[in-house]
Amino acid sequence: MISIRGLTKHFGAAPVLDHIDLDIADGERVVVIGPSGTGKSTLLRSLNFLDAPQAGVITIGDVTVDAARARKADILALRRRTGMVFQNYGLFANKTAKENIMEALVTVQKCPRAEAEQRALAVLAETGLADKADSFPSALSGGQQQRVGIGRAMALGAELLLFDEPTSALDPEWVGEVLDLMRAVAERKQTMLIVTHEMQFAREIANRVVFMDGGKIVESGPPSQIFGAPKDARLRKFLQRVE
Ligand code: ADP
Ligand code: MG
Repeated sequence: MISIRGLTKHFGAAPVLDHIDLDIADGERVVVIGPSGTGKSTLLRSLNFLDAPQAGVITIGDVTVDAARARKADILALRRRTGMVFQNYGLFANKTAKENIMEALVTVQKCPRAEAEQRALAVLAETGLADKADSFPSALSGGQQQRVGIGRAMALGAELLLFDEPTSALDPEWVGEVLDLMRAVAERKQTMLIVTHEMQFAREIANRVVFMDGGKIVESGPPSQIFGAPKDARLRKFLQRVE
């Protein structure tokens, strides 16, 4: 169970996240949509304190962190319960696919190297990249790099996986294989919070869709409601532009 209460983040004067409240049940897939510059990436990054929020209480499983009095140990515990997939893959250029997956297992989870290697190889097999274990990112297609990025998040066994526009940096030809892998992750009942501009995919994969505008959640509901019967005028306008 994941709960976010009053999550607030400022860069300077204006709030980029303005008292966000959101609950995510175990195994639920929540998709966040909204115009660019509206705080979607900041929401994901504040959730795990990659960008420390100024206020808010975040619970992931048995860890609760109050931003107003967050201690380093609590932040690390919270972060260990999340895995993140970045728009630009976020791979280390000087590490192979296998080493990229091993990195957080060894440094953050203190997993012994031999075990981390076994887990990395298992994940590479699951993502269809067994033959790319020793390839560097520069030798992989965009689609393959992002599959390594997703495999790295999967390998952590985290309670919550965060996806920040995982297909928006990809050439169109590689989008399908990345969405297919995300479908496979969803089938394992993995709890997922996904920011995407792929509206067809959002409709299909989401249990719930959250529309953000101006740092606030403006409307949320099942995909049938958000796409079929949107209430808020800003949401209707947004959908007209992107669909
Ligand atoms: P989205 O992901 O919805 O496009 P972001 O969360 O990236 O939006 O950004 C929301 C707002 O916060 C934007 O106005 C952006 O310029 C601002 N912002 C994001 N990150 C920073 C930062 N590190 N420093 C200053 N402003 C930032
Ligand atoms: Mg963004």
